[in-house]
Amino acid sequence: MSQPSTPRSWVISANGHSDFPLQNLPFGVFSVGDSSARAGVAIGEHIFDLQAAADFFQGEALRAVQAMAGGQLNSFFALGRGPRVALRERLLDLLSEHSNHRFELEGMGANLLPLAAHCQLHLPARINDYTDFYVGIAHAQNVGKLFRPDSPLLPNYKHVPIGYHGRASTIRPSGTPVIRPKGQTLPAGASQPVFGPCARLDFELELGIWIGQGNALGEAIDIAEAGEHIAGFCLLNDWSARDVQAWEYQPLGPFLSKSFITSISPWVVTAEAMAPFRLAQPARPPGDPQPLDYLLDTHDQTNGALDIELEVLLSSAAMRDQQLPPMRLSLSSTRHMYWTVAQMVAHHSVNGCQLQAGDLLGSGTLSGPEAGQFGSLLEITDGGTRSIDLPSGETRTFLEDGDEVIFTARCSREGFASIGLGECRGRVMPAR
Ligand code: CA
Repeated sequence: MSQPSTPRSWVISANGHSDFPLQNLPFGVFSVGDSSARAGVAIGEHIFDLQAAADFFQGEALRAVQAMAGGQLNSFFALGRGPRVALRERLLDLLSEHSNHRFELEGMGANLLPLAAHCQLHLPARINDYTDFYVGIAHAQNVGKLFRPDSPLLPNYKHVPIGYHGRASTIRPSGTPVIRPKGQTLPAGASQPVFGPCARLDFELELGIWIGQGNALGEAIDIAEAGEHIAGFCLLNDWSARDVQAWEYQPLGPFLSKSFITSISPWVVTAEAMAPFRLAQPARPPGDPQPLDYLLDTHDQTNGALDIELEVLLSSAAMRDQQLPPMRLSLSSTRHMYWTVAQMVAHHSVNGCQLQAGDLLGSGTLSGPEAGQFGSLLEITDGGTRSIDLPSGETRTFLEDGDEVIFTARCSREGFASIGLGECRGRVMPAR
């Protein structure tokens, strides 16, 4: 039996790295000290500075690097797949342990910066539009049951990839503090609303999808072409004020309960890096409708799902004081998506809506069907009726000030190097 090849890098920390081995090569934007933001690639515990290494690229790969000048990846995303693949191929060559350029690159130490030490990570692109979908069917059922015990899934769910337009201006990279929002809520049993700090602050475990090439106004993206319009993926925490949400959401859906902040992992894991971790979309259960033609593509059905394990960790201030490690709240997966990312893109544009390079889509909360797989506290605590015990002796129903929520992700498949998406982390600060 032939041994599958998993090439190694001369960047020692990359080999066996849980998130960023040579096979990942995610793109991001960083700065050091007061320097201006610039594009780089995560490799092990380092960032490879693309601008500083520009002399090592030619042709389409150089075009890709040049498009990143200015410290935003929008123009790079807009180039589409060709230049992105050319850049990836060249980076695989430059950073592999057998690279002809290894000693040259090592000699130019400025190319390779330690990630943790002093690099600040930024949003990778200017996000003009952010759309949040609702494709995690277990979450839709769990939450639907809390709000509508008699009809958890509304009749449109299995026909339409449900979504709403979110707030782009408040998306922030991992590590940005989450200030507890204030808002209007209707206390249980009360007939008049009150105003104050959110008392039911929650997270939502989601996959983020970066749009690459956009489409012209009025021209829908065919589902068979949707993959060409997806640049990459990240983790996304759609922080939610449940008490505000419960009062405001009818009839138009979430508004201020979601728009105070959305956190994302700052690295764009490309569609190419994700290719080994594609799966067939699970067959729909008997009795479920077939998707309409514009949402149905054979290749998408056989290869359009994603196999990403998702983990949620929680650390309270008391846990950190006692030097206790973060506690796992959930282990879920992107396998629980009722609609594929290609279906989301096709649906989003089917009315002629223009998507643009750097737009961000959220998947919706990705819960599994079982306890231990839920992607929000609303589900874990059954609407706040069952508290969870923390190793510090504290209990939680919703997030307290000082709590830190950490998402991580893992893509694994026999014969391939495992990759991750990096962290999406946020700590709750008191209301102002
Ligand atoms: Ca959401």
